Amino acid sequence: MLTALDGEIHFDEPTRAAAADDFGHLVHRTPYAVVRPASARDVASAVRWAAHRRRRFAAQGCRHSVFGRSQADGGVVADMTALRAVHAVGDDRVTVDAGATWRDVLAATLPRVPAGLPDYLDLSVGGTLAVGGVGAQISRRGAVSDNVLEMEVVTGRGELLRCSGGDLFDAVGAGLGQVAVITRATLALVPAPAHVRRHLLFYPDLATMLADQRLLARDDRFAAVQGAVLADPAGGWTFRLDAVADGDATLTGLSDDRPRAQVTTSTQLDHLDRLAQLERALRANGQWDLPHPWLTTFVGDARIEAVVAAELDRLTPADLGPFGQVVVSAFPGRSVTSPLLRLPADDLCFAFNLIRVPTTGDTADRLVAANRAVYERIRATGGTLYPASALPMSQEDWRSHFGPAFERLREAKETFDPDRILTPGYEVF
Ligand SMILES: Cc1cc2nc3c(=O)[nH]c(=O)nc-3n(C[C@H](O)[C@H](O)[C@H](O)COP(=O)(O)OP(=O)(O)OC[C@H]3O[C@@H](n4cnc5c(N)ncnc54)[C@H](O)[C@@H]3O)c2cc1C
Repeated sequence: MLTALDGEIHFDEPTRAAAADDFGHLVHRTPYAVVRPASARDVASAVRWAAHRRRRFAAQGCRHSVFGRSQADGGVVADMTALRAVHAVGDDRVTVDAGATWRDVLAATLPRVPAGLPDYLDLSVGGTLAVGGVGAQISRRGAVSDNVLEMEVVTGRGELLRCSGGDLFDAVGAGLGQVAVITRATLALVPAPAHVRRHLLFYPDLATMLADQRLLARDDRFAAVQGAVLADPAGGWTFRLDAVADGDATLTGLSDDRPRAQVTTSTQLDHLDRLAQLERALRANGQWDLPHPWLTTFVGDARIEAVVAAELDRLTPADLGPFGQVVVSAFPGRSVTSPLLRLPADDLCFAFNLIRVPTTGDTADRLVAANRAVYERIRATGGTLYPASALPMSQEDWRSHFGPAFERLREAKETFDPDRILTPGYEVF
């Protein structure tokens, strides 16, 4: 028995069943036990306890993975949301427990905001750092993992360590939990205006929207620009940019359908929490609990128009759902520095995501298979996967995904998790 724990360990069926589910509702692997740690020391004890019993170990944040990535079949999972304190808030940094959500972090730091933030606030800091973390500010400030200054982690050997650079640090950010569990992170903070101006700009077609994204990527009139293709209720697609400025911004030189443009002002928090509205709508109509076969990728500028046009031809509005969208958002590849967050080689990259919100559950298997086919087509164009996606990936797929960075990840695995205990859900090793 794991007696040296300050927190709790649960073996009951309801707790284990909950730990075998996630936002995707596509993969279900039941753990042997669920730990609710009361300290980083507890996490270290639980890792050692699992390893000693030859059971694998996975940290769970908010379980917003979509393909069982935080699960451990017959293993031990740690509910990291039990560790969610926000510690010291300074002018340029904040130290938080890895189970804190971005909502928790912002509540303590506003009017300052983390330099790297995802678009959705109810993800854990640790779960976001494990995949890298991509948000509207990526063009200006890079990924979430590019803006972490220091981490406290528990390795697969059960050692509690701190890192702010070097092999361990580089293998943890966007490292899919393969070498260590993050227990605490110090995040860079930046000042933010109290209000933002949001411009919704509509386009007649994909090519015009992409041309404006390229133009806006070369100037800094907007703090963030995100593109979306939405299923039009009348049939066909709507092309839309969501461009956010810290103050007034000129629309000179843009080719949007200007009479349709909508300009609004909102508080910083309402803006950062903009996906809460979608969540409320999906919870109200029951779609929050349906399967979510999402696919998130990066495509290089040279191929983006052809890739999106071809995928839109294949996609039916029903497979996207009325609340779904295709994300097509440009950012300079050089803004991302985390070595394990893999991007196409082009100077300008695009997040290309199929945020599928189908209205029934019976299409899930077909859409997961479709994701795999889309991914293979994108990979053939030099595109890459954002690993928060619903599709099967083999070890060989991961090796090719990480490319030249794989060897360093493998060496770090050998050093920090030689028994291959950690985070089996990604099936990297
Ligand atoms: C509604 C929604 C909105 C999203 N929006 C964005 C977005 O704007 N930007 C973006 O980048 N992604 C987004 N995602 C994807 C999301 O960032 C990833 O799925 C993320 O991994 C989920 O974090 P989580 O806290 O729910 O972690 P979980 O799903 O619980 O875990 C995810 C992975 O991280 C590992 N992990 C969890 N905690 C730790 C830890 N402390 N240390 C090491 N490994 C850990 C788990 O073992 C698992 O492999 C979104 C997902 C959803 C469902």
